Amino acid sequence: MLDSLKGSLQAALDKLRGAAAVNDKLIDETVKQIEKALLLADVSLPLVASLSSQIREKAKTEEAPPGYTKKDVVLKLIYDELVNLLGGSSPRIPKPDKNQEHKVMLIGIEGSGKTTTAGKLALYYKKAGYSVGLISLDNYRLGAAEQLRQLADKVGVPFYADPSSPTRKAFEEGLKQLRERGAKLIIIDTAGRHKDEEGLMQEMGELNNFIHPDHVMLVIDANLGQSASSQAAAFSSKVKVGSVVITKLDGSGKGGGALSAVAYLKVPVSFIGVGEGLDDIEEFDASSFVSRLLGMGDLRSLIMAMQAAEKEQEESLERMASGRMTLDDMLSQIRAFRKMGPLSSVLEKLPIGGGLKIDQLTEEQGEERMKKWEVIIQSMNKKERSDPSILDSSRIRRIAKGSGTRPEDVKDMIRQYELLKKTMKNVRRNKRLANLLGG
Ligand code: GDP
Ligand code: MG
Repeated sequence: MLDSLKGSLQAALDKLRGAAAVNDKLIDETVKQIEKALLLADVSLPLVASLSSQIREKAKTEEAPPGYTKKDVVLKLIYDELVNLLGGSSPRIPKPDKNQEHKVMLIGIEGSGKTTTAGKLALYYKKAGYSVGLISLDNYRLGAAEQLRQLADKVGVPFYADPSSPTRKAFEEGLKQLRERGAKLIIIDTAGRHKDEEGLMQEMGELNNFIHPDHVMLVIDANLGQSASSQAAAFSSKVKVGSVVITKLDGSGKGGGALSAVAYLKVPVSFIGVGEGLDDIEEFDASSFVSRLLGMGDLRSLIMAMQAAEKEQEESLERMASGRMTLDDMLSQIRAFRKMGPLSSVLEKLPIGGGLKIDQLTEEQGEERMKKWEVIIQSMNKKERSDPSILDSSRIRRIAKGSGTRPEDVKDMIRQYELLKKTMKNVRRNKRLANLLGG
């Protein structure tokens, strides 16, 4: 699937991943390589430009959450921006009520794979427990109705076509008959050919007006180049497109034209076609698609772990700001601080600023002290960490022993904890005061 795009994107990322450290130059090179890969795959220029400027900008400003590096941040950015481009990460398969009538109309140019997709959808939804019915309204191409009839027979769902009647009459009769046979999910195949494009679009508008589809799927061939976007635009000027189906992703198509059309229309991809068989259809999931594209099975778990770390960090800061800080929060903050670089520069960045007042220590002593606190907190049990007020002298002795420190070190840590907690409360009170004063 999209082999050449995949290859060049992966080459760009491999270089990034293999690098010892990420600097601006490497980020720039990586983004350039990604741009090239996308353009070669027929992704449209404006899209590529906006994608790469997003990645560049965010790569400069976004901080790595604790435990992660800038490299991880850049990887995640690339991944996120590509997923966004493809309509976000939640799957968008139409899942209508099984007991209510739902009409799905397939549109697209001739040869894009509408009829094949109609058959595949019939099987997909039948397996999912729907009562499916198929109607062919392709009265242009000889044998089009017959093609769908055969698919309907294979799947085992009711079918209707009447190529000798006008499409409106054929549709109305088909709907009536399929209803009588109990079909609820009605899939309507249309013609992709006309005398000219204007005529085809005109007809789509007319079909739309008498069919009143609940969902329109625009079928786009992955082999289509730059013209995909303008075609998609022409269709969507007549019909409200609900989702896109990209077909022939099993082939050697570059895919970028179809992907650009999706981004251009700003509608989600619902399904992808990955072969000629009735089974060769997949629900589209932008996140797993992009992971596959970037060749990173591991990327998804990295992203999820990073998201969790970011969330934990936020919650911890929130607890601290509301004066409900625990020693676990302090531990996670200490860890975050220590990953952020030298203590002095970290303290400058802190909102609490000098409030923490690590006395007048040298940098090294400060680092040592934080390291000690980390072991001390780790030697405490859960209850102690969430409520340090229960720490009496016997507990303190036990913790000191367990962490290889002295009881004074434990007390020192507790003092700093109390100080930090108080400072956080003050910050909050001052903020409220400032708000009250209209600051
Ligand atoms: P329509 O004119 O839009 O109805 O297109 P058809 O459904 O008749 O398909 C045109 C051709 O594309 C047929 O030969 C199909 O077998 C083929 N086709 C459709 N979908 C796929 C797909 O996902 N993968 C591959 N390899 N071929 C497909
Ligand atoms: Mg057809």
